[in-house]
Amino acid sequence: MVRKELPPPPANHGANNPYDEHFMREAIKQAKKVKKNQLPIGAVVVRNGEVIGRGHAKDKHTCDPTNHAEIVAIRKACKEQRSERLEGCTIYTTAEPCQMCSSVIFQTGIREIIFGVHRKDLPVRKKKIQFGQLVEDAGYPVETFGGILESEILKLFEPDGIKHKIPIHERFIFKKATA
Ligand SMILES: [Zn+2]
Repeated sequence: MVRKELPPPPANHGANNPYDEHFMREAIKQAKKVKKNQLPIGAVVVRNGEVIGRGHAKDKHTCDPTNHAEIVAIRKACKEQRSERLEGCTIYTTAEPCQMCSSVIFQTGIREIIFGVHRKDLPVRKKKIQFGQLVEDAGYPVETFGGILESEILKLFEPDGIKHKIPIHERFIFKKATA
């Protein structure tokens, strides 16, 4: 599936857009690779209808706080492009990006961010991230669209789904108490 066969963005980004759903499913495949007790988030970077970088949140034992799905996908895309810039690319991520990932996305020159779940709807972390404000503060003309395959993605967070059994805030307390 290549971009030129599909209606042009941004007006046509969104639910029931086969282009967006196709690549969000690629991001969901990544989210399903995340180990238990970590946020099941996956991301892909797309250029001209082709995935050039895939990523999912890595194990905590990598001891690398930057190993978020979006950044892992961007690292791979940059390697693939042999460039630190990714102009003309679109990133698909299963959840609204955090502050760190948003900054990295802006730095690369990616100007289209398509996400699944709004962070306020994540069942495990209620911390507010003003993504809209981050985009505004970036000072670039960034196109964003959220809610793609949202219900499908939210299933990954269900108790008998593949991931979280303990809400994040409880897990942190538990770890602190036994350290
Ligand atoms: Zn992040």
